Amino acid sequence: MCRHLGWLGAEVTLSSLVLEPPQGLRVQSYAPRRQKHGLMNADGWGVGFFDGAIPRRWRSSAPLWGETSFESVAPALRSHCVVAAVRSATVGMPIEVSAAAPFTDGHWLLSHNGLVDRALLPASAIGARAESVCDSAILAATIFDRGMDALGDTIIELGAADPLARLNILAANGSRLVATTWGDTLCILRREDGVVLASEPYDDDPDWEDVPDRHYVEVSADGVKLTALDHPKGAR
Ligand code: GLN
Repeated sequence: MCRHLGWLGAEVTLSSLVLEPPQGLRVQSYAPRRQKHGLMNADGWGVGFFDGAIPRRWRSSAPLWGETSFESVAPALRSHCVVAAVRSATVGMPIEVSAAAPFTDGHWLLSHNGLVDRALLPASAIGARAESVCDSAILAATIFDRGMDALGDTIIELGAADPLARLNILAANGSRLVATTWGDTLCILRREDGVVLASEPYDDDPDWEDVPDRHYVEVSADGVKLTALDHPKGAR
């Protein structure tokens, strides 16, 4: 399924996170190394970043590898907090720019790597609130409705209701970068200037750490905290 990447730290260029790393999202769009579901991520991409407290997005339904306009501008765009993704559309989902992560409620940027049965998502999240009929867009609207502080509970409930669901979420609001693992990979790189969360390492640095499945990750000024998601009352 899709590959995503989040950054919280010093201001860096978007190209340094997405385009320049030898195995970064641009390369992952055609040659991911750890993708278990799907072969490549050619069905669009999105780069969201905070400009102060304002989330801004550049999204497309075209493959990232051919985006020469983004390549030209990305070295001039800098941010301390980024959520980016390349997409491999789930069978039956529309291929359109509004289905490309990250999704937003105006405060958070959110990406979903995986799939979920849309019939299990509340009808109130469908339609005007969701940016697309794509499962990930409706899931994002559901998570925003429930509140980001309930993210862990929401994932546990949906995972119990849909045993085939894969629910790797990555989201940020400018001061917090949060993620869940539920059925797919996620790695952490603690750099001197900040923290990267990514579906797979963007280079061969030995400092990349794998996050175990069914965990919640929170990155903030207080550091990195991992919490297991496999019991209903776990701290989330
Ligand atoms: N289900 C989502 C979509 O169709 C996400 C797919 C993925 O993770 N590859 O876009």
